[in-house]
Amino acid sequence: MIFRLISRLPLQVGQTIRMSSSSAKRLSGKVAIVTASTDGIGYSIAQRLGQDGAKVMISSRKQKNVDACLQKLKSMGIEASGIVCHVAKKDDRQKMIQKTLDDFGGIDIFVSNAAANPHMGPLLTCPEEAWDKIFDTNVKATFMLCKEIVPHMEKRGGGSIVVVGSFAGYKPSEVIGAYSISKTTLLGLIKALVPECSSRNIRINGLAPGVIKTNFSEALWKDKDSPISQMALQMTPMRRFGEPSECAGTVSFLVSDDASYITGETILVTGGIDARL
Ligand code: NAP
Repeated sequence: MIFRLISRLPLQVGQTIRMSSSSAKRLSGKVAIVTASTDGIGYSIAQRLGQDGAKVMISSRKQKNVDACLQKLKSMGIEASGIVCHVAKKDDRQKMIQKTLDDFGGIDIFVSNAAANPHMGPLLTCPEEAWDKIFDTNVKATFMLCKEIVPHMEKRGGGSIVVVGSFAGYKPSEVIGAYSISKTTLLGLIKALVPECSSRNIRINGLAPGVIKTNFSEALWKDKDSPISQMALQMTPMRRFGEPSECAGTVSFLVSDDASYITGETILVTGGIDARL
């Protein structure tokens, strides 16, 4: 009798473990802010964090995009809220943070995803205004948001930040030189913030996408037969462009407890593009 009971025990224990791991979502109870999240990679990240159980604050520059995005996320059963936030505008940033606190009670996860690239062409032809816009949006706004959000994470006992960079941050491109340098700067920003974040139980990591099929990179992938698309495919060993969802899973991993001992790192999601400093 006892032997029969013992022989059935492992199966019963196994069943209990499987049931609990499939019902618990890994980001349950967490609150996430994702910037530039009404479209493209940011939208995909917001969707994935929501599907993994987080409450998500989405934002971008245009109210109609925020409204449409919220409708989509809510129709999937995701708990989401949204607000207009141009990341380079201090007032917008403060309103976004305050709305997150009002709607969800705190902040555990921050994904800095917004970027601008107003200049294509040789670096030495980059106008001062374009340089300023690139650095204001890509670098300064990321730093200011980290600075503004960290105290709120501290109140929750810790948190996790992911900064969206680019493979171009490792391998400066001739035609998007200033943008590439701004993304290299983000690698430095992540490393520089590690000690101060660690002492507050906050991890900070980066995601460096390759060519991902969004509006931002349309020129590189839309017309597959164009010389520029062919060139982009040639530098990508997997010989295909990435989907935004392939970036989202990496971010969900980085902000989860599965990455609890990872900080100061940047994960390249590029289909194998040779990109290292
Ligand atoms: P995208 O498809 O063009 O997405 C743009 C999103 O950003 C929209 O929701 C847009 O909405 C919002 N947005 C644009 N400027 C903003 C600003 N100043 N403040 C707030 N929201 C803003 O871009 P993506 O390709 O997903 O790029 C996302 C990130 O991935 C960027 O950091 C980019 O550098 C990086 N990345 C992309 C690729 C790629 O191949 N796609 C490769 C490497 C790195 P509104 O128009 O309503 O503002």
